[in-house]
Amino acid sequence: MMQTQVERDKEANFRAARFYKVGQPLVIEELEVPKLGEKDVLIKVKSAGICRGELDLIDAGMLRKLPITLGHEISGVVEDTGIQVSTHKIGDRVVVHALTTCGNCEYCQQGQDMLCTSLLTSPQYGFTADGGYAEFCKVNASQVLPIPSEIPFDFASTLGCAGLTAYHAVVKAGRVAANDNVVVYGVGGLGMYAIQFAKLAGANVIAIGRNEEKLKKAVDLGADHVIRAAEQNVSTAIKNATNGKGADITFSFVPFAGNEVMKNCWDSFANGGRMILVGLPRPLNIDLTPIVFRGFSLRGSFYGSKADLAEMLELVKNNKIKSDVAKTISLDEINQSMESIRKGEIAGRCVVAF
Ligand SMILES: [Zn+2]
Ligand SMILES: [Zn+2]
Repeated sequence: MMQTQVERDKEANFRAARFYKVGQPLVIEELEVPKLGEKDVLIKVKSAGICRGELDLIDAGMLRKLPITLGHEISGVVEDTGIQVSTHKIGDRVVVHALTTCGNCEYCQQGQDMLCTSLLTSPQYGFTADGGYAEFCKVNASQVLPIPSEIPFDFASTLGCAGLTAYHAVVKAGRVAANDNVVVYGVGGLGMYAIQFAKLAGANVIAIGRNEEKLKKAVDLGADHVIRAAEQNVSTAIKNATNGKGADITFSFVPFAGNEVMKNCWDSFANGGRMILVGLPRPLNIDLTPIVFRGFSLRGSFYGSKADLAEMLELVKNNKIKSDVAKTISLDEINQSMESIRKGEIAGRCVVAF
């Protein structure tokens, strides 16, 4: 029988950036190549995106099982497969859907995998199971999707979380349609993809942010109007950008949005305005009366399903959606780059390339 690369390299360890302690830099160390279960694939990682949410995990200590290899935006090449895997073969270019779901519960059956009742007990790559800040990553084959050949690895990795979360929010939760007045609050990794998906649907898109460079990029990606949150009256600016009507749908990608963001959204809604909350809010103190009298609604949107990911990859391939990758680093630069992301210095996604 032919020897696989892994068998040849069995003695060789691989390098990974591990999260040991809350608020501390990741530790780069060597691990043994993991043994594959019957339904696993071993991925030789090519790119792993650094998601803003990860910094919150490091800073706030939301993970219980430590140490762990972080990194949930993963793309790479199948290096080896478990004996029961028939869906993928060695050499396939793949992207990972990070949240393992059961496939059987009511929500999975309806294509709402991210609401799966087994979410808390299944391996979640980069959260409760080792993720992609490593040369190799072991993933259940059910969580691995092929990447169209037109999409490079670095772009594909960012689609695994930032792209998918934005796609699900805009297309599924928001159901954005032609001529909708859409506000994208927050122009980080998710916002940059949300702007593009909303434009593709034919919406009038207004992007709100604080960083000049990021707002410039939002315009390059198709935003019709930009609002500088620190300098302008947000609700007045939204009314001006919508011929006085106000926003039909507002997406908040702002991490830990407080009363100010919520009030700005409320004050700038058209009647029947819908808010889709994606970034986690702080505890809020807001008046909900307009929800009743003006028919507003508020809904959350979390990640996206595997079907969404497959759909989105096709859409990205066919519609020339632009990559949000702004910086490529080596594994050794990861702590330094996370510091730059914390300071908001990188307009776009930073990815670790292998
Ligand atoms: Zn993420
Ligand atoms: Zn399920």
